[in-house]
Amino acid sequence: MDCVFCSIAEKKIPSSIVYEDDQVVAFHDIHPEAPVHILIIPKKHIQSLALIAEENKELMAGILYAAANIAKEQGIEENGYRVVTNIGNDGGQTVGHLHFHLLGGRSMKWPPG
Ligand code: AMP
Ligand code: ZN
Repeated sequence: MDCVFCSIAEKKIPSSIVYEDDQVVAFHDIHPEAPVHILIIPKKHIQSLALIAEENKELMAGILYAAANIAKEQGIEENGYRVVTNIGNDGGQTVGHLHFHLLGGRSMKWPPG
């Protein structure tokens, strides 16, 4: 399957990895929208949050736990940050491999566009 984030998880294409465990990889977004913009993905290919199964519940918890720890390491914990996942067309998803954006280092607007 031709999936850019599977290729990153398998180290077939380069990325700037900031965290990795047996199930999760996190790397810098190639087009950062904030001073800190990191993507956290499952190594396993899941298209989006809409397609998670019950067996993925612990994996989802692991991703959010990683996000909180990475935020701490990146020094954005005190000022705050945002974790978001886009789902499908209306959600603005452009890469069909589940990923959570960790955004910080500037003030975020609400509601998102
Ligand atoms: P989304 O629009 O939520 O699907 O987000 C996809 C994100 O992946 C965008 O912020 C892109 O900048 C980012 N992206 C796409 N290709 C790469 C890549 N090869 N390495 C790092 N980030 C990427
Ligand atoms: Zn994939």
